Amino acid sequence: RGTHCVFEPQMDEHARARRALEHELRDALTGGALELHYQPLVDLGTRRIKGLEALVRWRHPERGLISPGMFIPIAEETGLIVPLGEWVLRQACEAAARWPAWVSIAVNVSALQLRYRGFAASVLAALAASGLAAARLELEITESVLLEDTEVNLETLHTLRRLGVRISMDDFGTGYSSISYLRRFPFDKIKIDRSFVRDLGASAESSAIIRAVVGLGASLGITTLVEGVETEAQLEAVRAEGAQEMQGFLFSPPRTMAEIDVLLAAQEAG
Ligand code: C2E
Ligand code: CA
Ligand code: CA
Ligand code: CA
Repeated sequence: RGTHCVFEPQMDEHARARRALEHELRDALTGGALELHYQPLVDLGTRRIKGLEALVRWRHPERGLISPGMFIPIAEETGLIVPLGEWVLRQACEAAARWPAWVSIAVNVSALQLRYRGFAASVLAALAASGLAAARLELEITESVLLEDTEVNLETLHTLRRLGVRISMDDFGTGYSSISYLRRFPFDKIKIDRSFVRDLGASAESSAIIRAVVGLGASLGITTLVEGVETEAQLEAVRAEGAQEMQGFLFSPPRTMAEIDVLLAAQEAG
């Protein structure tokens, strides 16, 4: 059928387990076993929710809730990330369309997904199907996503941005050329990786770096968010450096849609 059929008698246990997982993941996607949880992106000054990041989970019949770190890499290697990512996008837009208009929704985008020719069209289709305004959607891109096929990727991002979608640079500071990408693409938000926050108490360098990135963002007109804020001390420290938003267990871990509905209703009332 045009594909190779390789007989692999010595295929090791690891590869076999991976293949099994790949098949299960395919079934999970079509069988409704994936679900989205949402984590608040919070204004550092007012502590009010400004947006939510959609984070996918796999509800496995035997293994319980599986985190994306376990299966996103497999989805990326097998190409399953394209339909999986499209499912995430549609679900997230539908959820956000039910929420108050002041809440934005952030969705992670993988390299293969962005490179896929129909990506911009699938984003527009998800917006149209849900009725969500483009300006309420933020796409989170890591630097590694931009490493391959840079020109094509930048063009796709420009197209989406012209249509009103916002683009965030995720895990800022974990790659080798984060800063050079800021020159190449007008990101709307920088998400400073949580490794800098984790080291805040222990290293003077981390707070200096956060301060410098916040300053860079300010002069470029880019919002800065600090990821992984777990303690009040960290919150105070990142606020002192001038960051605008935070995300982390201190305010809320990722939660189910029902839990988020309650949080948003409370904020609307208050
Ligand atoms: P990410 O995009 O950097 O997402 C943030 C991760 O940090 C989430 O892990 C979140 O639960 C975790 N986190 C948030 N606050 C804290 C904190 O205060 N402390 C600590 N220790 N961790 C915190 P999660 O949900 O396991 O997701 C892991 C990664 O999987 C994400 O990292 C993202 O790269 C990927 N991912 C998740 N959902 C999707 C998706 O729909 N599509 C794609 N392509 N990737 C996804
Ligand atoms: Ca993210
Ligand atoms: Ca991140
Ligand atoms: Ca990350």
